[in-house]
Amino acid sequence: MAKKHENHSPDSSIENAALRHAGAILSIDLGALQKNWRTYQTMVSKSKNCAVGAVIKARGYGLDARHVGVALGVAGCKTFFVASIDEGIELRSVMGDDAEIFILGCPIGGNEHDLVHHALSPVLNSLEDISVWKKFSNSSGLNAPAALHLDSGMNRLGLGAGDVGAIAKNPDLLSGVNISLVMSHLACSDEQKNPMNQEQLTSFKNALSSIGGLGGVRTSIANSSGVFLGPEYHMEMVRPGVALYGVNPTPEKANPMAQVVRLQGKILQVREIDTPQTVGYGATHKAAGKELIATIAAGYADGILRSLSNNGVAYVGEYPAPYVGRVSMDLITINVSAVPENIAHVGALVDLIGPNNPVDDMAARAGTIGYEILTNLGPRYGRVYVGGTDK
Ligand SMILES: *Cc1c(COP(=O)(O)O)cnc(C)c1O
Repeated sequence: MAKKHENHSPDSSIENAALRHAGAILSIDLGALQKNWRTYQTMVSKSKNCAVGAVIKARGYGLDARHVGVALGVAGCKTFFVASIDEGIELRSVMGDDAEIFILGCPIGGNEHDLVHHALSPVLNSLEDISVWKKFSNSSGLNAPAALHLDSGMNRLGLGAGDVGAIAKNPDLLSGVNISLVMSHLACSDEQKNPMNQEQLTSFKNALSSIGGLGGVRTSIANSSGVFLGPEYHMEMVRPGVALYGVNPTPEKANPMAQVVRLQGKILQVREIDTPQTVGYGATHKAAGKELIATIAAGYADGILRSLSNNGVAYVGEYPAPYVGRVSMDLITINVSAVPENIAHVGALVDLIGPNNPVDDMAARAGTIGYEILTNLGPRYGRVYVGGTDK
């Protein structure tokens, strides 16, 4: 006879329905985010007139650009960088008029009015971009600000040496364009000893002086890791992104940043298996003996990368529990044989990302970087934002 519905899960005590419904809970510590931003402020405090901006592209590295933007604004951040116009519009909708928002790479022609309507400043990446923005500035009379990106060795976006040479020869190309920031971007800043860092800095400075320094316009080259290369990289603006969200900007050393993200999956079932049984698609895990397997309600559709199959580690309390079998779309399976049963029970929350297995750890196991883990954090998680309202 079917038992009357009985719920042993502590889940039933969760009042918020969205958190109760979700298979996994993503907690985002906005106080830690603010702390990380202030860490950068302290680092650049000796560099005269250096401001700490924040890069919050890709939905705030997966954590929600609005929450992130507001919390950083409360901490004192005034300059933000996003990737696309729509990201800029979304951010503007929650930020005050005094927030400066740059769009790192966007199609400008045809979008000029949308940009100024939302007070978004494009980054001009080519002579073509400059000419389009100049034409618009002249015809609208708005003199709307833009940033200028000089490439110093990335060869993705930005004016190349030839373009800079053209401006040096003909400064008129820039006249009538309100340039409020000149920036470049480092390719290897997470490798502190890589000579390319100094080469790019020199190349950027040479390019700047060849176009006359643009009358004291603010300059910027450092991302999260770049700030750690030393004060000569700070200039007048630093642009940290990933480290604000807790990823280690100095991979060769201990992580100086506070952890922002915790991801806890719920145990849906615990089952005992024995040889010769297998677990999951492709039967890639074969039980070595008696094993306790817990099935967790999160999978690759939630950003638990499939490369973590037979490779990831979850934590049940303080106990490590290795992923066994393949990561599937909505589920993963972990071996909880070594975890006390009163901890590894149905409804219990298991750390997929947590104090013992931070983002960088998951990334290393998945063969990728923290950036990819964060920006893949899925839409199905129940999200909890903590702190961030205090300075
Ligand atoms: C993404 C990005 C940043 C931030 O880089 P992090 O490594 O996340 O700190 C800074 N500047 C530019 C141009 C970027 O594209």
